[in-house]
Amino acid sequence: MLTRLIYASRVSPGIDARNVRDILAASHRNNKARGVSGALLFNSGYFLQWLEGGRSAVNERFRVIGGDPRHREAEILGYDVVAMRTFPDWTMGYAGEGSLNGELFFRYTDGGTFNPFTLTADAAVALIHDLSRASLSLTPA
Ligand code: FAD
Repeated sequence: MLTRLIYASRVSPGIDARNVRDILAASHRNNKARGVSGALLFNSGYFLQWLEGGRSAVNERFRVIGGDPRHREAEILGYDVVAMRTFPDWTMGYAGEGSLNGELFFRYTDGGTFNPFTLTADAAVALIHDLSRASLSLTPA
């Protein structure tokens, strides 16, 4: 059974793009071994992550990720059974600071600051879809 979990969290103090590089390296390694794919947004002090794969694998990865001190207050925005993967080629696609700007920023905020905790599950799904068309890569620039 394929499952998709989307969560938001706050980046812990002192964590920057170099730390995210380590996170992505572990993600690529571990997710590939477990058949998990997805995408990670690192922006404005928040993470927003999409994990998809077998239900047990996704739940197990989320338990590990949720205990990681590099972020806090991980909150599930959406959890669904899905018919197919959206990112079969991404062991973990990545969008960093600057990826959410201009029209995309305006679309998902009230014009103020970006805060994924305020997104509905549908908006979080749509945002990551939009990012995947615009700017996902495998590692931070
Ligand atoms: P290693 O990468 O070798 O790390 C060993 C231990 O050190 C781990 O417990 C790790 O948490 C800890 N650690 C390493 N660097 C730091 C640091 N700078 N500060 C504090 N502790 C540190 N993992 C996945 O497998 N898939 C994912 O999709 C995924 N997404 C993530 C998204 C976010 C936002 C965060 C914060 C972490 C994510 N991780 C993901 C990492 C996950 O939390 C574990 O750290 C990782 O899976 C452990 O990999 P490893 O066993 O190979 O250990």
